[in-house]
Amino acid sequence: MENILTINNLTKKFGYLTAVKDLSFTIQKGNVYGILGPNGSGKSTTLGIVLNVVNKTNGDFHWFDGSVDTHDALKKVGAIIERPNFYPYMTAEQNLKLVCKIKGVSTEKVEEKLDVVGLLDRKDSKFKTYSLGMKQRLAIASALLNDPEILILDEPTNGLDPQGIHQIRQIIKDIASDGTTILLASHLLDEVEKVCSHVVVLRKGEKLYSGRVDEMINSHGFFELKTEKQSEL
Ligand code: ADP
Ligand code: MG
Repeated sequence: MENILTINNLTKKFGYLTAVKDLSFTIQKGNVYGILGPNGSGKSTTLGIVLNVVNKTNGDFHWFDGSVDTHDALKKVGAIIERPNFYPYMTAEQNLKLVCKIKGVSTEKVEEKLDVVGLLDRKDSKFKTYSLGMKQRLAIASALLNDPEILILDEPTNGLDPQGIHQIRQIIKDIASDGTTILLASHLLDEVEKVCSHVVVLRKGEKLYSGRVDEMINSHGFFELKTEKQSEL
């Protein structure tokens, strides 16, 4: 199996607070990984570190078995870690063409990616007329413009209505079945169960479990996780 991302003993401290503690896991090509944990468990911090927007305190990570440095590796990564932000008075298509120019990639993939997220028939609508779910789908299309090896999503369904949640999850599964590796952070066990093949469970920055989702569900400790679900996980 090809390794996309390897994290070794990663630690992040914000002053006295340890947000991520001695965390290790590996992302292999072709799988759908969830980082699962309640709010404040270190999910976004972990994603921020591997995307080079947060400085690590200790430990290490490397992309693609260290074959390229992080700067070059990130050209092969698509990520949405913030609320999608586009120009409100430009159409979806115009916004994506602009993203292509900024990223230095060809604009020929714009329609293909709009189709992947089910927005091709709305490509001429202004961004401001989009629902929250459509905005999130446009953000996914945008993150796919450079045909990334891996797509990283932080809480991809937060704030969406049930239909929007269902659509996003289906799109993630479609993208994965086309061979793109996925890493998503979520506080919802349900989301990880529905979308992911593999999971890293975090609590207070520490890894509680990592492995296959089906094995987690069948495993002895799962009832503890289920109980925690009531209070968030
Ligand atoms: P999650 O994404 O799982 O909700 P985060 O990674 O955002 O968790 O946060 C983990 C912990 O680190 C939380 O206690 C949070 O308050 C803290 N934290 C995150 N970012 C910062 C920051 N820039 N400065 C100080 N503390 C932070
Ligand atoms: Mg977060």
